[in-house]
Amino acid sequence: MPATQPSERLLSLISSSPATDRNRPFVVYTARDLERIAPLARLSEAQRFDMRVVSTVLPFRVNQYVIDELIDWNAVPDDPLFQLTFPQRGMLEEAHFEEIAGLLRRNADKSDVDQAVARIRGALNPHPAGQMLHNAARDDDGNRVDGLQHKYRETVLFFPAQGQTCHSYCSFCFRWAQFVGDKSLRIASSEAGQLAHYLAAHPEVSDLLLTGGDPMVMKTAHLARYIEPLLAPALDHVQTLRIGTKALSFWPQRFLDKEGDALLRLFERLARADKQVALMAHYNHWRELETDTAREAIRRVRDSGAMIRAQGPLLAHINDDPAVWARLWREQVRLGIVPYYLFAERDTGARRYFEVPLERVWRIYREAIQQVSGVARTARGPSMSAGPGKVEIQGVSEINGERVFVLRFIQGRNPDWVQRPFFATFDPEATWLDQLRPAFGEPKWFWQDEYAELCRNAVT
Ligand SMILES: *Cc1c(COP(=O)(O)O)cnc(C)c1O
Ligand code: SF4
Repeated sequence: MPATQPSERLLSLISSSPATDRNRPFVVYTARDLERIAPLARLSEAQRFDMRVVSTVLPFRVNQYVIDELIDWNAVPDDPLFQLTFPQRGMLEEAHFEEIAGLLRRNADKSDVDQAVARIRGALNPHPAGQMLHNAARDDDGNRVDGLQHKYRETVLFFPAQGQTCHSYCSFCFRWAQFVGDKSLRIASSEAGQLAHYLAAHPEVSDLLLTGGDPMVMKTAHLARYIEPLLAPALDHVQTLRIGTKALSFWPQRFLDKEGDALLRLFERLARADKQVALMAHYNHWRELETDTAREAIRRVRDSGAMIRAQGPLLAHINDDPAVWARLWREQVRLGIVPYYLFAERDTGARRYFEVPLERVWRIYREAIQQVSGVARTARGPSMSAGPGKVEIQGVSEINGERVFVLRFIQGRNPDWVQRPFFATFDPEATWLDQLRPAFGEPKWFWQDEYAELCRNAVT
């Protein structure tokens, strides 16, 4: 696990001789350690105070590799990798910012700060798309299976309990509620057995998707407890294992050291048993693909027989530019990675700072796709992971004199909704599905009643 004791952290800071990257120690900083991050000294005191305020509310965690190799400190604060990992003032609404700033300035009691922080977090939609309520799966006896969501027929999503953190945090992360220490907000499980039991009872499931946080923060031996049961005949029907991760960007050493060797052996065993393994790699910018360490990690994963599929959200301040996406997809294809999804930023956390109107997201996607060859056009999107499913913006059109968004489900709570085009009244400011209205004066979406029914049945 990545968490190191402060003393250990300091020690490795002092002795930060240029070790070969394979042996680079994992050194991580959280909100408490902001003052110890050497390159931040070049920012003003006021900027550092802003960071302190924001990191009191939103999760912050960054490791030495990101600081040394990904961030271009000459381009700070605009550098996209700095924006990706470091707190920025605009991430909090002005009133929230001022409230916390006031408390910190006058050294208020910790309990007062904690109370204000809890209230502000509660106002930031910690569980978008009803993640907690709607998707909780139940075993055959009707018991809730912790950490397991079965939202789409063929795919089970599982959150291993030890995988609920990341090597660094993305400042926009919609999973932020899992990182801020409020147990009641977490979705997690330590029950590998429960998972295997559930899968065995569900022959319709072809895909297991391990996610987090980042399951790659786990030791390989722990990960194997969830994965090895897939090799048993009872789980023959589970053909594809996907692992959602940003470790190829934030800590590629994970795939290089001894633990990495063990992981790749595990992938090889799965490949030999004709199980497909896919790392669902989270990328936001082509710069994450540039380091030697990242490239070696990608090569090694591919050599194990696993494939890498890439996905990530489109965000203001980081990648709201067709040139960035075109270059990202081209680089991915060059390295043998398959572009998979471009997401619209979810309606949670620091969304106001990062959100981009859907119309512009679609235009950026389109202009980027136009610049790349067919093999890079496997990136679907822009896609909103909303309550009823993954909704893709196919475009803006005019039908009978009305300007509309053309939409379709890529994934739906009901599989029958998938691939049916539907229409929303054009709205240049809308940033999410819940801000759209059915076009042509229709009173509701074609899926609306059914979805409400599904929600009623799921809430307990
Ligand atoms: C995206 C997603 C999946 C995986 O969907 P695929 O279309 O199979 O990639 C599974 N569960 C949830 C909740 C998701 O958002
Ligand atoms: S790596 Fe994924 S889960 Fe972790 S902080 Fe970034 S977006 Fe969130």
